Amino acid sequence: MSVTTFNPQKIQKDFPILQRKIHSDKRLVYLDNAATSQKPRAVIAAISNYYEQHNANVHRGVHQLGDESTKLFHESRHTIAEFFGAEPTEFIAVRNTTEAINQIAYTWGEKHVAAGDTILTTEMEHHSNIVPWQELAKRKGVRLEFANVNDEGKIDLQNLAQQLAAKKITLLAVTHISNTLGTRNPVEKIVELVRKTSPSTKILIDGAQAAPHIPVDFHKLNVDFYVVSAHKMLGPMGIGGLFVRQKILETLPPFLFGGGMINEVTKEKTTYAEDLEERFTAGTPDVAGLVGWAAACEYLRTIGMEKLAEYDYDLVAYVLEKLHEFPQIKIVGPLSANDRIGSVAFIYDGVHAHDVGQILDSEGVAVRSGHHCTMPLHTKFHWQATVRVSFQLYNTREDIDAFVNALRKVEKIFHV
Ligand code: PMP
Repeated sequence: MSVTTFNPQKIQKDFPILQRKIHSDKRLVYLDNAATSQKPRAVIAAISNYYEQHNANVHRGVHQLGDESTKLFHESRHTIAEFFGAEPTEFIAVRNTTEAINQIAYTWGEKHVAAGDTILTTEMEHHSNIVPWQELAKRKGVRLEFANVNDEGKIDLQNLAQQLAAKKITLLAVTHISNTLGTRNPVEKIVELVRKTSPSTKILIDGAQAAPHIPVDFHKLNVDFYVVSAHKMLGPMGIGGLFVRQKILETLPPFLFGGGMINEVTKEKTTYAEDLEERFTAGTPDVAGLVGWAAACEYLRTIGMEKLAEYDYDLVAYVLEKLHEFPQIKIVGPLSANDRIGSVAFIYDGVHAHDVGQILDSEGVAVRSGHHCTMPLHTKFHWQATVRVSFQLYNTREDIDAFVNALRKVEKIFHV
């Protein structure tokens, strides 16, 4: 892009919440997008419209509203799957990334992982991509190992290659983009390495921070599982996606049992739906959530994920440049915007991350401070807590200037 063809000021008008004031008169500068993004009017309207005009339970209805709701359900699933370069049958709707990973641990993990196997993840993972594997490891007598993250905040690929060569790795579970370091992992390179050196290893990618920022093509990535949350990519909370390669999906047992996912039920036994979409949708689905998420996908598609990624690069490069003006600030993760997407976290020497966050908030600047659900990473580098700014398409250089001005207030108050 040319950054000039991208018009964040116009985009901001699509987000009602950005018009509100903070602490009675401060403009809201929302830089906590990695936790959750704001929602455009198109998404809010799609959800309201569903409940105002079409609400009815899906399938088997013999009335018009039931038909309309069912149609919206399927159309939305189709739009979302297409956005991620997947077939609708490869898309299991779940509540969020966390649930998606748990579902894989409980279905694929229970069936295909055996005592003595090794699951490999990395030191930069969100707790959601660690704890379900720890629990599976406990249940099944499996080893959980961690690929090394180097001082630059990148996965040590040489170390990873050695781990893959040294023993049979049943699953590699790795994040596409780190929510703390901001690192964009070379997933394509990692997949190539795994497919070449360890063809039986399955690959799960945590796309929670990638889906909001870069184009994701499930088939092109050539991974086995890809997991996302709608709420980080302008969609509603409470809906997310688990994308599973069709061949694997066909071997998976259902996770939840009950209405909607059956073929035939007798008092003695049940057979399950052949149709994969049905088999993995037990109970009433979150139709409004899917409708809202599909509207978010449409919104992002119209703008273009490539453009968004380039714009994001500009914001990240700008904030890195600005933070370098503060000798008391240490940036965590890669120092170049080339290796990052979406966020920058830092340590303010001599001031606790929560104090920094509170002072920024007093100026209307919303950031996140803490361990960002990456405690093993914080422990490894002896960071108590970090402050994170994270972006979406409505953020501007003016937002970053407002953040930097608020940081000057921290300097004044703490004399550091
Ligand atoms: N993985 C990563 C990389 C994340 O950033 C997050 C959210 N911070 C999650 C997983 C979990 O997402 P959710 O809370 O929507 O399940």
